[in-house]
Amino acid sequence: MSGTEAPRARRVAVVGAGLAGCLLATLLGRRGVEVTVYERRPDPRIAGAERGRSINLAISARGLAALEEVGLREQALERALPMHGRMVHPRAGGRHAAPDFQPYSADGRRAINSISRAELNAALLDAAESTPGVTLRFSRRVTGVAGGRLMIDGVPGDAADVVLAGDGAYSAVRGSLDGIEAGQDFLEHGYKELTVPPRDGEFALDPDALHIWPRGDSMMIALPNLDRSFTCTLFWPRDDFAALDTPGKVRAHFARHYPDVAGLMPALTDDFEHNPVGSLVTVRCRPWVREVDGTLVALLGDAAHAIVPFFGQGANCAFEDCIEIDRCLTETGGRWDLALALYQDRRKPNTDAIAEMALDNFVEMRDRVSSPVYKVAHAAQHALERGLAGRYVSRYELVSFTTVPYARIPARVRKQNLILAAVAGALTLIAGSAAALLGRALCRRSRRSR
Ligand SMILES: Cc1cc2nc3c(=O)[nH]c(=O)nc-3n(C[C@H](O)[C@H](O)[C@H](O)COP(=O)(O)OP(=O)(O)OC[C@H]3O[C@@H](n4cnc5c(N)ncnc54)[C@H](O)[C@@H]3O)c2cc1C
Repeated sequence: MSGTEAPRARRVAVVGAGLAGCLLATLLGRRGVEVTVYERRPDPRIAGAERGRSINLAISARGLAALEEVGLREQALERALPMHGRMVHPRAGGRHAAPDFQPYSADGRRAINSISRAELNAALLDAAESTPGVTLRFSRRVTGVAGGRLMIDGVPGDAADVVLAGDGAYSAVRGSLDGIEAGQDFLEHGYKELTVPPRDGEFALDPDALHIWPRGDSMMIALPNLDRSFTCTLFWPRDDFAALDTPGKVRAHFARHYPDVAGLMPALTDDFEHNPVGSLVTVRCRPWVREVDGTLVALLGDAAHAIVPFFGQGANCAFEDCIEIDRCLTETGGRWDLALALYQDRRKPNTDAIAEMALDNFVEMRDRVSSPVYKVAHAAQHALERGLAGRYVSRYELVSFTTVPYARIPARVRKQNLILAAVAGALTLIAGSAAALLGRALCRRSRRSR
């Protein structure tokens, strides 16, 4: 979206130079809005990426559509590794021991893209910095908004008419606002990142897939990196991490539960001991827009609606927020109060929907994907998609390969499934009646021939 009119607010602040904050600042700068971005960290392009964040991200249709708006789609894709499906790794033993490749799309051609978070953030920072009207301020920790000013480390700082808070799942701005109902639901699972380095200079696993080791209550996944390594993420109940308190226990556990990859991780015990356990949180809050002493404050991205990462949609969804804010400014002629209210009304049902789908996908990934019933259903779904092109589209495709609003997806999938169930029922009835008719005809014929 690119409107030409300048919104009527002179001092606009974006809090957080993460993925959403940088994209939004760039979009606003291109509209002619003067915007200052305040980031708690030093410039990550100089200081290096923060440890403990996910190293790579799966970016799909929604994220790419948003990046296209600021001319970054192709640049992102050039540095991305496409993953055309999931490679499901069973436990060793038995006749199903070989990994099973499940394409993401019916035609096998669509892919989600493994992209380095640090590189994507750096590209977005470059884009924001080179946009006229955008100023970046690093090492500025915003702690709230009061008296028409941003509070920086608790001290009144620059004046601001509009504050757009993209300061992440544990948003300090959100925490400082009165009248916001904000719930944080933590999964009992945490996550820890490990590495599979290149083997003889090549990828040690197939780089065209997102690898999954589903283990019922827990799982590990791996996404490829450009340096031919893989970043693995363990999603385990927190107590399980704590239970492996010696290198010997770590090695034994991996040899037993992840036997095909344990030998590909030379730094396993070191990584396991030193890499932090991250939290997985769903943030449900409302409203997203408040007025504080005359300053309009709005939340976006994880600050408004952090979700668990099992659909690979958090960043994609945060990018969509930015596009929607830009679109609402265009539609309201740059009236921030109207635009932000409209943004909230449009986005909230969508982010609620993806939050639930992401939680649901955890069960699918850690448990269902390895069951024979799931595999048959998955193949049948793709056959239907090919046969009923455009009329039957799986939930995965709708979420990852389209920009259909998330809120429309659950109802559409339910409707498709009802129609399918009715068709399957009718076919069973027809087949049953045909079999009965055939049976009667054969009986008559055999009576006549006696
Ligand atoms: C393990 C894991 C895997 C994930 N995988 C994927 C994936 O594959 N695909 C996907 O789309 N999403 C994924 N996500 C989600 C994704 O990381 C987030 O949804 C995304 O980063 C949200 O962007 P954001 O800009 O809202 O927040 P952030 O990226 O968290 O950025 C917030 C910024 O604000 C800054 N900040 C924080 N507090 C302050 C303050 N007080 N003052 C100033 N600045 C502040 C931070 O330093 C940071 O730069 C994953 C998340 C996790 C945890």
